Amino acid sequence: MMDLAPYAAHEGDSRGRRHAEPKPAYRSEYQRDRDRIVHSTAFRRLVYKTQVFVNHEGDLYRTRLTHSLEVAQIARTVAGALQVNETLSEAICLAHDLGHTPFGHAGQDALNECMVDFGGFEHNLQSLRVVDELEEHYADFDGLNLTFECREGILKHCSYKNALALGDVGERFIARQQPGLEAQLANFADEIAYNNHDVEDGIRAGLIGVDELAAVALFDKHFGAVKSLYPSLGGRRLVYEVLRRMINHLVTDLIDSSARRLREAGAASIRDVRQHDAFLIGFSAETARDNRDLKSFLRENLYKHYKVQRMTSKARRVVRELFDAFFADPALMPDEHRAAGTRWEAAHGPAGRARAVSDYIAGMTDRYAILEHRRLFDPGERT
Ligand code: MG
Repeated sequence: MMDLAPYAAHEGDSRGRRHAEPKPAYRSEYQRDRDRIVHSTAFRRLVYKTQVFVNHEGDLYRTRLTHSLEVAQIARTVAGALQVNETLSEAICLAHDLGHTPFGHAGQDALNECMVDFGGFEHNLQSLRVVDELEEHYADFDGLNLTFECREGILKHCSYKNALALGDVGERFIARQQPGLEAQLANFADEIAYNNHDVEDGIRAGLIGVDELAAVALFDKHFGAVKSLYPSLGGRRLVYEVLRRMINHLVTDLIDSSARRLREAGAASIRDVRQHDAFLIGFSAETARDNRDLKSFLRENLYKHYKVQRMTSKARRVVRELFDAFFADPALMPDEHRAAGTRWEAAHGPAGRARAVSDYIAGMTDRYAILEHRRLFDPGERT
C-alpha cells in the first residue's frame, strides 16, 4: 500500500473497538473490519435486496450486494489516489447498506411510518444496529465489534436526538464536526454508483430511453463523444461505453477537486478534516451541478415512472401489513424474534415490541418478505 497522507485514518490513532480484542496477527484492524462484514449474515442477504427494482423482476438488475461492491471499488480508487485509507473506505462501503429494508426506499419509508410513534426507522442507524448488536457471530460480544472509524463511517446521517443516545459515534453530529475522509468519500462513491447503474437498469427495463437522456448534460456530452468516435456503435455497448465514461468523469473530478480542497484548506491531520466547516471531499462546482441534474432526471423519469410506483405501492402495503400483523400479535413471529420482542417489551414497553418487529422486517430480503406476507394472509399458503 502507498504511504498514507497525514490526514488519512492511521490505524495507530484508531479509537479502537467497543470490546477490547488482541491485535490480528496477519491483518490490519481495518482489514479485520472488512472481513467481518463480508462474513456477516446481513451481507449475504444483500444479494436478495434491491434498490429500485424488486429482486424477482430480472436477473440482471443491481442488487444491494452488487451495488455495494461497485461502491467499494469506486471508493478504493478515490482513496488510493488521495492516499487515504483504502481498506477502511472499502469496509465502510461494504457495510453501508446492511440496514436496508426489503424493497429499497419504498420499504424504508413504509417501515419509518410504521415506527413513527416508536422512535422511527432510519436505514443508516439500522446499519449501525446490525454491526453493533444484531449480528450473532461471536462468542464474546453481540455484533461485529468493528472499529470506531468504521462504525462512524457507517452512520452517515443521524438526528440530534439519536446522536445524543448513541454515545461515541454520535459525538460528531452534536459537535457539528465532519467524519474522516474515508467516510466522506464513501458517500460520493455511493452516489456515483447508484446514479449510473440506475441509468443502465432503467434503460434495460425500458423505463427510460437514450433520447430522453439527451436532456442530461453529463450523459449528452459523453454520448456525443462516443458517437463521434464510434459512429456505428449502438445498443447495449453504446450505453455501457457512455456510462463508463460518465463514471470515469465523476471519479476523476472527485479526486482532482478533493485534492485541491485538501490543499487549499491546508489540512495536515485528521483533526483538521474533522474540524473543517464542511466536507473536504467533493466535486467541482460544474460537476456537482451535472450530478444534481442527473439525479433529478432519475427522480422524475425513473423513480416516478408508473411501473416503479406500482412496485413501490405494493412494497409499502406488504411492509405495512406485516408490521401491523406482527405488532398486534408477536406470537406470529418466528421464535427468536418473538423472544426479542418479549425481552424488549419488558424493558421498553410497546416501543420495544415495535423495535423487535422492525428488526425482523428490516432483515428480510425482498422475496422473503413477499413469502411471509403470503404465509400470513393467504389461507392456501403453507405457514
Ligand atoms: Mg448505497
